[in-house]
Amino acid sequence: MTATIIDGKAIAKRVRQEVKAEVAELTAAGVQPGLATVLVGDDPASATYVRNKNKRATKLGFHSVHHHLPADTSQAALCDLVDTLNSDDAVDGILVQLPLPSQIDADPVLDRIDPAKDVDGLHPDNVGRLVAGAPRLVPCTPQGCVRLLDEAGAELKGARAVIVGRSMLVGKPLAHLLLARHCTVTLCHSRTRALDEEVARAEIVVAAAGSAGLVRGEWIRPGAYVIDVGTNHTEDGTLVGDVDFEGACARAAAITPVPGGVGPMTIAMLLVNTVRAARLRRGK
Ligand code: NAD
Repeated sequence: MTATIIDGKAIAKRVRQEVKAEVAELTAAGVQPGLATVLVGDDPASATYVRNKNKRATKLGFHSVHHHLPADTSQAALCDLVDTLNSDDAVDGILVQLPLPSQIDADPVLDRIDPAKDVDGLHPDNVGRLVAGAPRLVPCTPQGCVRLLDEAGAELKGARAVIVGRSMLVGKPLAHLLLARHCTVTLCHSRTRALDEEVARAEIVVAAAGSAGLVRGEWIRPGAYVIDVGTNHTEDGTLVGDVDFEGACARAAAITPVPGGVGPMTIAMLLVNTVRAARLRRGK
């Protein structure tokens, strides 16, 4: 078997077109959705991510504002900015780019964001709603993974899904999204025994560990759908995922590449969340 390559770039483009149409419709109705991004410090990777998020938002017709604070910004100053954005009616979504510099404790900052504007879906209110089966704003990357599985034609109902990685950003929220779609979900992590055996049972495999080549091709059950969230830089600067791509291609039904799989979907889903936040907040 040679796997179908799931083209995250093309799917993300379609999602953006859907978002653009919604933004135009809302703007015509007098509600231009707004996204505020906050970057603290000068980490080059974070600066690139935020720039891309802003660029996309502006291009699709959002009201988009960016706040770049110096690396030595205090916790109090960042919280003040969050308060200002919380009370700014033109802002529907607030994104504080992580990681934050070491003098800032991220959790109290994320908890301070108005849950109705929490387009990263990391506020405890939104996490709780997801766990309770009544999601409002859901983290972007896991949402993107589910959309990729749907677009690839994976049958989720009743499927055995194995997620490698249990972070709050990817693994845990994805487990709840897949549960809601009636998968039987196993969450694996760094203490999991016999990861190979867990993966080999799965019809759906999502790798989100941040470890290059961790998931070997021969572990993949023939016909499985494989989503590779991992982004790892090799010594020669190449970007690779957590899955042995060549090996997995020989067994999977469909697989996402790295780059060009999950990455483009994450930004697209941020824009989906911002439109959703605007609709919810303004009763549209
Ligand atoms: P994290 O470090 O917070 O969590 C990693 C998880 O993987 C942990 O639960 C850990 O237990 C597990 N893990 C680590 N090594 C393991 C091993 N050898 N065996 C089994 N489990 C193991 O990371 P994160 O924020 O969830 O991100 C995971 C990866 O996904 C990273 O490479 C990150 O860059 C990438 N990522 C990509 C996107 C995107 O848009 N493409 C978005 C978010 C994260």
